Amino acid sequence: MNLLNFDSPSRLSAWAYLVQKLENYYNHTKEWPVNPILDIEKVTAHVQNVSLENGIGINEAIDHVMAGFRDFHVHTPHPLYLGLFNPRANYPSIIGDSIAAAVNPQMAAWSHAPFANEVEKYIIGELGRKFGFRKDVDGVFTGGGTEANLTALCAAIRYYFPAVKDEGLRSLDRQPVLYTSRESHHSVLKSAVVTGLGKHAVRSIEVNQDMSMNIHQLESRIQEDLSLGHRPFLVVATAGTTGAGGFDHLTGIRLLCEKYDLWMHVDAAYGGACALSDKYRYLLDGISQADSVTFDAHKWLSVPMGGGIYFTSHPDILQDTFQMVAHYMPKEAEEMAVIDSYNHSIQWSRRFIGLKLYMSLMVIGWKGYEESICEDFRIGRLLVQRLETSGWKVYNNTELPIVCFNKPEKIDDEVWTRNFVNKLVSSRKIWVSTYPVHGQLTIRACITNFLTRDKEVDEIAELINSAFDQG
Ligand SMILES: *Cc1c(COP(=O)(O)O)cnc(C)c1O
Repeated sequence: MNLLNFDSPSRLSAWAYLVQKLENYYNHTKEWPVNPILDIEKVTAHVQNVSLENGIGINEAIDHVMAGFRDFHVHTPHPLYLGLFNPRANYPSIIGDSIAAAVNPQMAAWSHAPFANEVEKYIIGELGRKFGFRKDVDGVFTGGGTEANLTALCAAIRYYFPAVKDEGLRSLDRQPVLYTSRESHHSVLKSAVVTGLGKHAVRSIEVNQDMSMNIHQLESRIQEDLSLGHRPFLVVATAGTTGAGGFDHLTGIRLLCEKYDLWMHVDAAYGGACALSDKYRYLLDGISQADSVTFDAHKWLSVPMGGGIYFTSHPDILQDTFQMVAHYMPKEAEEMAVIDSYNHSIQWSRRFIGLKLYMSLMVIGWKGYEESICEDFRIGRLLVQRLETSGWKVYNNTELPIVCFNKPEKIDDEVWTRNFVNKLVSSRKIWVSTYPVHGQLTIRACITNFLTRDKEVDEIAELINSAFDQG
């Protein structure tokens, strides 16, 4: 039998076996230790202890993989994983991503995948409207927030320095510079590296007490760069910073962008989900004025990685930036008013990323998401209350369910704080991290799991308090 070509009974039996294993994982996640004992020898032994020569049975292969996950992973779907915006994936999105794998549409050319391309266009339009963009919002699904931010840099370079597409950065007589707060995500720096601007082209702007970009310093850095003969072209604002959940003042940044003729990009990878809630949308005030926005569905919308989106209010900029002439690409839709994804994206062959979100929205709906997001806000506040009742103090100032806390008597003791977090994490019952808030090291706990509810908050408070009491 050609092992690339499973017959129908083998396929059905493999799926049935897999579904049972996945159900066991999904249903019993909470009974597993949140995180593994890190042992590189054991994990490499497991990885390599399988023959790649002649093939093993599919069920055996599934068991091997599931055992690897079981023993050697942080279980980010665990409700006591309080980490880095890695949610538990919702089930419709898991099904959607499985369909994308099985049908495997090629997104690159519209004429190869009209249904899939129109699904993505529809979702971008609908979600774009949630951000307040007008009808002609354009965008592209990306591998994640990093690719969306890189797309933003590419588009802004194309807009202000059109010669770069042909002649490269060396054709410029002024150094392009961009601005972002020191709390922004480091994918902005990485994008500066990838685009060839270099890290030194990124001006890191100080933040205020609430972790928002200091607009006065932003303006004086712009003026300083102008006086040095540089060419400021872009501000990357953040709506929901990764560490402590700060929101930049988008309306104020917009005014500066107009005054100095700069592209305004808003990185709302995580916080953008507030657009789905009538109650919390105000946190994004001004986002509709942005030239472009980054959003990650694989964060608060709990779809599997990777699922980022780049939105822009400039309907032609993606085409201008990425269009190539390639004679081998299909031509059937040439006369139609459609866009080929390969002319719109950094990627060429591309997975049907939008399906997992389309599937989620069909089944959960905007309303279901809104309720779930509001619940996460409530749980975040509940956690704050529990911690404050036991003498912990919260050091960050955000509405988001990101809690950076410590004991007032320990806040300047970095060694103690690190040891305390290590102790919690080595219990394997809870995963938290550390984050410096204005130079003081705190314990960071973030709610991104729809299973983290009242009962879990009790368990979290109990684990943290008893670890503290044990000294
Ligand atoms: C997570 C995050 C990113 C990076 O997104 P990836 O999907 O991990 O590539 C960028 N910006 C912010 C604010 C983020 O929280």
